[in-house]
Amino acid sequence: MKKETKYIFVVGGVISGVGKGITSSSLGLILKNRGLNVTAIKIDPYINVDAGTMNPTVHGEVFVLSDGDETDQDMGNYERFLDLNLTRINYMTTGRVYKTVIEKERNLEYGGKCVEVVPHIPLEVIGRIKKAGKIAKADVVIVEIGGTVGEYQNLLFLEAARMMKIESPKDIIFVMVSYFPTPSKIGEMKTKPTQYAVRTLNGAGIQPDILIARGDTALDEKRKEKVSVIVSVSADRIISAPDVDSIYDIPINFEKEKLSDKLCNLMGINAKKTDTQAWNKWKNFAKHAHNGKDILKIAMIGKYFETGDFVLSDSYLSVIEGIKYSCYAQNRKPVISWLNSTDFEKFPEKLKDLKKYDGIIVPGGFGTRGVEGNLKAVKFARENKIPFFGLCYGMQMMVIEYARNVLGLKDANTREVNPDSKNIVIDVMESQKEHLKNNLYGGSMRLGAYKAILREGTLARASYGKKEIIERHRHRYEVNPAFVGDLEAQGLIFSGRSPDGQLMEIAELPKSKHPFFLGTQFHPEFLAHPLDPHPLFTSFIKACAAKRKK
Ligand code: GLN
Repeated sequence: MKKETKYIFVVGGVISGVGKGITSSSLGLILKNRGLNVTAIKIDPYINVDAGTMNPTVHGEVFVLSDGDETDQDMGNYERFLDLNLTRINYMTTGRVYKTVIEKERNLEYGGKCVEVVPHIPLEVIGRIKKAGKIAKADVVIVEIGGTVGEYQNLLFLEAARMMKIESPKDIIFVMVSYFPTPSKIGEMKTKPTQYAVRTLNGAGIQPDILIARGDTALDEKRKEKVSVIVSVSADRIISAPDVDSIYDIPINFEKEKLSDKLCNLMGINAKKTDTQAWNKWKNFAKHAHNGKDILKIAMIGKYFETGDFVLSDSYLSVIEGIKYSCYAQNRKPVISWLNSTDFEKFPEKLKDLKKYDGIIVPGGFGTRGVEGNLKAVKFARENKIPFFGLCYGMQMMVIEYARNVLGLKDANTREVNPDSKNIVIDVMESQKEHLKNNLYGGSMRLGAYKAILREGTLARASYGKKEIIERHRHRYEVNPAFVGDLEAQGLIFSGRSPDGQLMEIAELPKSKHPFFLGTQFHPEFLAHPLDPHPLFTSFIKACAAKRKK
């Protein structure tokens, strides 16, 4: 008998950022450990066709998939928790859905019908959800609907979910992640916002099967009983999910409440017992978040973390997780400091504070702001032999700094910042010129997975332990081949190149000159996984640990 694919819709109540992404990833993991084939989909309610055109300070990191899709950071969480390689069918936005419907209409694919918001938009959404399930041959598809219940923006996605439920009631379940605030002046956890949120969801024709109760602390039995009656979810299906120090504990906490059993029962799946070997591996990994013996102080120098009076690190999420995995595997605890690159421009005396850190990372970035500060920090790291890891823009900064201060090309720059410089050491890629000329910015960078070849006898090659690698990219500019000879003659090594030798993918200094001074034109952070830390992050962390010991 053919097994039906099951779908779990995850929706959020009361506030944004309530933890739908981590909940979805965790549900996926506990089901995967029951021998089920799981895939995950993220729906973003934005009009943007992808996340590539959104400001990371507002929307968080742009996570790039192997096939080059520029997506939401939650896709990174799914890939990391579930050890998956997702593709563009797993991600959709309002813009993407409408674009397809309009294109189909123009191609007469609706056969002369009047094309309407309802049902044609939800039908397109349903088609995409089912296709993703089919491609993955999934037993279970987790579908996270972005935004919060009650917003106008995600109504059509809720409508799609409701329509799927009507069509095959036993294959669809709803998990609502909702927030229970404890106002400090009141001093007790309040349930009313969630009561309203569930009512609002009911208004869209949907009743949650499971309620995940987020809050500072656990939802106590008394309140659980009360909410249960009001929102019609039995108390054993209300799962308390208090704040935790490490997100990797969440699947473990869920299983303490036997959530995978409850989900399987609801979906009518007769699943295997939890795979203890896989589960123990995860638990062991999660334990390291608390056990790190020695700390390592890492400075992240960037510009996408200030929002109003608050500092958020979401723009660099995968980098942070990449650091953690390599640290945990070495029994270390990373302490990451956020340093604003523009500060080094305004207050150069702050540079010497960098000595306090065991390692420095300059992650990806765009545009002019903060570039001179970044360059100062790179110079400081190079001259003071502080382990330095440059990611994408960070590598470009490394090359510019080297050209300026070692090759003596004082005005060396990237075309992105100063097209009038006489020494454009980072230039626009040939393939990008047309896009820029025609203002075609969306989804047009060099995106996704590309092969690179590593040179023998280099730090890169030793780190990976192999000659050929595949890494994910997101950039328009590259090292100008005209300067490669001069840079190498002065000691900078291009240890990773595209298979045709034309594109410089990794730059580094030899160990004799610096303990770790390496940059990648790609984003290694997108391939760092909890149980499979990234080799370059691991080498960097080892160098940081060696510095700390000194
Ligand atoms: N702005 C640079 C480029 O487009 C680097 C991009 C990045 O850091 N992702 O090439």
